[in-house]
Amino acid sequence: MAFSYWESNAWFEEVDLLVVGAGIVGLSAALHARSLHPDWRIVVVDADPLGGGGSSRNAGFSCFGSATELRSDRQTLGDEAALELVRKRWQGLQRLRSTFGDNALGHRVCGSVELFPGEGSEAPPSARELEDLNRWIEPVTGVVDTFTPVPSHSLPHLLGDARGPAILSRLEGLLDTGKMNRAFRSKAHASGIDVLTGIRVESIDTAEGNCQLNIITLSREEASIRPARLVVATNALGSTLIPGIDVEPAVNHVLVTDEILDFEFPHAVHIDAGYVYARPIENRMLIGGGRHWGLDETATRNRLMALMHELWPATEAAGIAYQWSGLLGVGEDRSPIVKRFAPNASAAVRLGGMGVAIGMEVGRMAAEEIAIN
Ligand SMILES: Cc1cc2nc3c(=O)[nH]c(=O)nc-3n(C[C@H](O)[C@H](O)[C@H](O)COP(=O)(O)OP(=O)(O)OC[C@H]3O[C@@H](n4cnc5c(N)ncnc54)[C@H](O)[C@@H]3O)c2cc1C
Repeated sequence: MAFSYWESNAWFEEVDLLVVGAGIVGLSAALHARSLHPDWRIVVVDADPLGGGGSSRNAGFSCFGSATELRSDRQTLGDEAALELVRKRWQGLQRLRSTFGDNALGHRVCGSVELFPGEGSEAPPSARELEDLNRWIEPVTGVVDTFTPVPSHSLPHLLGDARGPAILSRLEGLLDTGKMNRAFRSKAHASGIDVLTGIRVESIDTAEGNCQLNIITLSREEASIRPARLVVATNALGSTLIPGIDVEPAVNHVLVTDEILDFEFPHAVHIDAGYVYARPIENRMLIGGGRHWGLDETATRNRLMALMHELWPATEAAGIAYQWSGLLGVGEDRSPIVKRFAPNASAAVRLGGMGVAIGMEVGRMAAEEIAIN
């Protein structure tokens, strides 16, 4: 069955900007375009009613990079490009916080610690490396001591004695991912942006300067939409719609314990240059990641659980209350791709593991690429 006249007319005709993907990037692009063009008809479509991408399945770190992640970014990208990347993460975070407010996001700047448990994990930076890192990042964070060593035995509930050093990054924080997504959806709605879910874009035809999206709805209706402009913000699945773009999906697994009596860990935690992460959610503990181990799903979950039990012995008696997986969009390096792939279409993908931070900045850049030029 084709769409009725009314369905076509109400939702899909004379669309000034269509965004594919209702994650942080897609909704940020739509909101920024709205601020530039109050009279535009802006529609965001997503295959999944709840989002379903990294934006609704992440760990809620408001982070700009642990010491060893930044060390690796500097090695891969060079000092200047790596600093620019950190600047974008920083600006994205400030934009997120100033747009919605910490309360609506459930956000707090609680600091993060990087831990170096056992053999096979990243080597901690030396005192001299930390000094250099602090000097390098100061133009972005505005403080001289972004990273400081702390004795890990000073951290409550952590098996401290044999843990070696820990590095505190006092400007990082945690937010409530569910609250953040609700805040985005509410703002989109209040801004007159239509967010239509259950619509999967099957392909995009940009021949001869046109822009046609072939879609399928949950009820398996096939149709096409011809918006005036397009932003593709499908992150990990970017290459299914834009062949050849350097982004591929990488699965991340997450576990959350039952509630634990009298358990309160104060910080977000990075391990193995960001490949493993842990955080408190009130009196539960979340742990996730581990894709660098190259194990299958069950083995990754078991290893994450063993690591959590080893580091926070209080979690051992607790069951696992929630477990899920999500897709990261990764590629040659950790910088996002914002680029025009047709005269009236741009892509904003490859958000890596820090899309909460950099996402609004990438959305803004994608909107400006297509809505100003
Ligand atoms: C388990 C996990 C933990 C993470 N933890 C953190 C963290 O703590 N801090 C941090 O900063 N980042 C974290 N990240 C990364 C972060 O979540 C992502 O970088 C960010 O959410 C990407 O946002 P996005 O809008 O680009 O993409 P997404 O949120 O992935 O949104 C893309 C959307 O596109 C839709 N879509 C895809 N293909 C189609 C199609 N063909 N048609 C229609 N719709 C389509 C999807 O349904 C999805 O909703 C984590 C990611 C994962 C998976």
